[in-house]
Amino acid sequence: MLALEFIGFTYVTNFLTTGLEQVIFDVFDSANRLFRDWGLPVRFLYLDSLTLEPGYLITIRTPEGSINLYPLEVLVDFLDYRLKVEMEKNDGLEMNKIFGITSFPLASRNRYFDFYESFLGYQTERLDRRIMVLSMRPFESDVLRVALRVLESPHEDEMTKKLAKMVVRREMEILRSRLLKGILHEVGHAFGLGHCSNSCVMNPPRNIWEWDTRPVAYCDSCWRKLRRGLNEASGDL
Ligand SMILES: [Zn+2]
Ligand SMILES: [Zn+2]
Repeated sequence: MLALEFIGFTYVTNFLTTGLEQVIFDVFDSANRLFRDWGLPVRFLYLDSLTLEPGYLITIRTPEGSINLYPLEVLVDFLDYRLKVEMEKNDGLEMNKIFGITSFPLASRNRYFDFYESFLGYQTERLDRRIMVLSMRPFESDVLRVALRVLESPHEDEMTKKLAKMVVRREMEILRSRLLKGILHEVGHAFGLGHCSNSCVMNPPRNIWEWDTRPVAYCDSCWRKLRRGLNEASGDL
């Protein structure tokens, strides 16, 4: 029996509608269920949400207009700090990685990442610690955003709200699947997987529609490599 390796899991936000928050909990559960079903000795450990001070927000101009966000550098610092606190508790869990989902687009102070760069998240290493960040933003459809706004508005009639609710239910399902695949993709990288060209979450898409055609799975070759990477990580060959 392999020792389980844990990845701290949190989300970074200063505002999230309840529906979107539920999506994060759903994908957390789904990912852990998949890891277990696939016999991979890795699990996410929920570490509460991180709230950042609005003072860290920056405004950047993009081809789609100005947006407010936390720079990637700040997100990484906060996640790394959170991970260090958890590791110092030293409660016997094997854990040197953290995964943060954010409701903000990913961008650096220095330049705006275009869609394809920011799409599948970012990860970096600090000494023996690995920090992963994934934004929900590229996975959210415009339709979902509009429907959520309708639901929150006091000025819409019952019929419109009913329609909006149906749209939200369908779009949330799509969001869940996109996000879950994004999580599996980043976890794959964290344990040594590169990109592949099979029908697989490690096959990077050129756009969101291509992403929707990927299965919620690693191909056989990636799965084998991932297992090997995990065995090496836990020192059990
Ligand atoms: Zn990738
Ligand atoms: Zn693959």
